[in-house]
Amino acid sequence: MLLKEIKDVFHKELDPQFGREEVAHFFYYFVEHYLDLPRFHLAIHPQWIITKEEESHFFKGLSKLKKGVPVQYILGYTTFMDLPFTVNENVLIPRPETEDLVQWILEDHKRSKTTLNVLDIGTGSGCISIALAKYLPNAHVTALDVSKEALAVAKYNAEQNKVNIECLKADVRTLEIGEDAYDIIVSNPPYVLEKEKSKMQDHVKNAEPALALFVPDLQPLLYYEYIAKVAKKALKRGGGLYLEINEQFGKEVSKLLTAHNLINIELRQDFHGKDRFIKSEVNLKSDLQGNL
Ligand code: GLN
Repeated sequence: MLLKEIKDVFHKELDPQFGREEVAHFFYYFVEHYLDLPRFHLAIHPQWIITKEEESHFFKGLSKLKKGVPVQYILGYTTFMDLPFTVNENVLIPRPETEDLVQWILEDHKRSKTTLNVLDIGTGSGCISIALAKYLPNAHVTALDVSKEALAVAKYNAEQNKVNIECLKADVRTLEIGEDAYDIIVSNPPYVLEKEKSKMQDHVKNAEPALALFVPDLQPLLYYEYIAKVAKKALKRGGGLYLEINEQFGKEVSKLLTAHNLINIELRQDFHGKDRFIKSEVNLKSDLQGNL
């Protein structure tokens, strides 16, 4: 079969569901992945013929896309901060927005000469931990997740990216943690309200792990509460807490952090202009007062 015929089938079958531009992206991901050819190959070789076996990959992928399986799960990988990550249905697909959270930490700490102890709460695929371990050579990263399936993915990704991180199965709600242990605590916890489900795309709400996404409508800050408690105790003086948040709750998360004695609160927007990240630090003054 001609590759261009497959492309036509993709558009005919999928454009109504996803739009022409997105379908072109899917098709090119498949060209790169299953044929090991550059995406512009078809433009140079319009008569390119593919084998029956290659064809079957495209058709299998097409039927999964139709059922709403995200393309990253079909291919089994994605990239984050220019690094390759294996993903499956046990982990949230790393989002481009989250790269900005990692960039913020890099901005603040890339000049640091001393060891940086980092704690990542709810690591999922390990994307934040691994990117930090890769780009902050002084970092010693501990990655926590409540799901052992997710931790297996994170461990595999650490090996693939040739970084050492410590992966621990732990639940932030019951976490026992030492004092003044970390320079950086980071988390992208579940923050989507159950009632927001109806606004979400099918391939997110039906395919990605609910455990990583949702919180009860009446407890939107559930995980931030636990994380703030951990941070208050476990951050060293001058240490920073970096969080990804639901765009609706910038003010509420700020208040919560203040209530836990965290200071220098800074809210940042994602590339859509939505409140998405928040940084805070431990309050040195109260720490000193506590020692008086
Ligand atoms: N940003 C993700 C989404 O768009 C949610 C991530 C999370 O809950 N931490 O669905």
